[in-house]
This record gives sequence, structure tokens and C-alpha cells, in this order.
Amino acid sequence: MKTKGLVVIVSAPSGAGKSTICARVLKRIPEAMYSVSVTTRRPRRGEIHGKSYFFVDEKRFRRLIADGKLLEWARVHGHYYGTPRDFIGENVARGKILMLDIDVQGAMKIKRGRLANAVYVFIMTPTFEILKKRLIGRGLDAEEVIRVRLKNARKELEYLDKYDYLIINDEVDAAVGKLEALITAERLKVSRQNRRTI
Ligand code: 5GP
Repeated sequence: MKTKGLVVIVSAPSGAGKSTICARVLKRIPEAMYSVSVTTRRPRRGEIHGKSYFFVDEKRFRRLIADGKLLEWARVHGHYYGTPRDFIGENVARGKILMLDIDVQGAMKIKRGRLANAVYVFIMTPTFEILKKRLIGRGLDAEEVIRVRLKNARKELEYLDKYDYLIINDEVDAAVGKLEALITAERLKVSRQNRRTI
């Protein structure tokens, strides 16, 4: 029996482990799909156009906004990011689970638009000190960038009460299990099952 589609919106401060957790959950739930965003930032090594992101220039990005092609968009760390609208709609209608890895501003825009069948998940490290250690440990960012990201993390956390779920990423396997469990529970809601009789 087919259940209704679900949009899982996942936000987290940079360094909290969101991408790793989402990637692992995607492998574990066959109906889950990643919503590939559009961005104006340059590809990082190993990123694939159409898989990691659709990489576009600012002119093209503005065109997508003007044509109403984006469900939401935001400027994050100096670049534009947006969620393609049609892909989400088509796949939710097919009963798929759409995973959106987007920042707090984007998540709040979707929330204000009252998107049907959406759940909002926030991922955080147990403490800010641990977040700082992780940002330093991954060796991707300069000291100043880390400082800005930590400042942003505090701001992002102010929106926590707008989310439905909080996952503290103390240990990755456990966090993956929690995200998978909450998706399973959401899909078991009577309102999400197209069942009229038993
Ligand atoms: P990165 O450049 O490291 O891949 O992503 C930077 C931030 O942009 C992350 O917090 C990520 O969740 C966010 N992001 C990625 N795609 C989108 C999107 O389509 N919309 C919004 N609002 N944020 C996004």
C-alpha cells in the first residue's frame, strides 16, 4: 500500500554532521530521495553537477526566481541557494520522501508557505564547544570563517522552537537511527496512509 509523500526538511549549523547523517539515511530508506538544490557557489572537489547541486551563475539564479521555479531560496555564507519547486511537487505526489538539506532561512520560508506533508528537523552537536572542535578538526575553514560559522550557529539555534524534532548528534550511528525512526513514525501516521479500511 502506498503512503502519501513526505518532505523532510533538515537544518543544522555547519559542522553538526547534517550531510553525513542525511546521506546515510538516504541509503537506508528506498523511497527517500535527496532534493538537489541550485547554487551559485563553485563546485568543491568531487561534487557533481546535478547530483550534489545544480551549479549556476547569478543571472540564471535570478531567472529561476523570476520564473517562480524555486520553492525557497536564501543567501548562505555569501552564495545563493534554492530548492527547485517542480521536483518536490512531482515526487511527493508519487509518494516519495524528499530530503531537503537547507539552511534555517530557507526552512522558515517553506514553513511560512505552509507546505503540506512537511516535517522540520534540526540537528546540533551536544555543545557549542564540540561544534567548534569539529569545525577546527575537519580542517576546511580558516579561523575567521569558523568564528563566523559559530556566530551563525547561535543565531540559527534561536529558531529551534519552530522545528518539530531535534537530533543531538553525539554519535553518528545513533543520530542516523533517530532520523530514520522519526521518518518511519511520520509515515505511520493514519493521516499519511491511504487506507480507508483494514
Ligand atoms: P554548502 O555550500 O556547504 O553545501 O551549504 C551551505 C549551506 O547552504 C548549508 O547549511 C545547506 O543546508 C544550505 N543549503 C543548501 N541548499 C540549500 C537550498 O536549496 N536552500 C537553502 N535555503 N539553503 C540551502
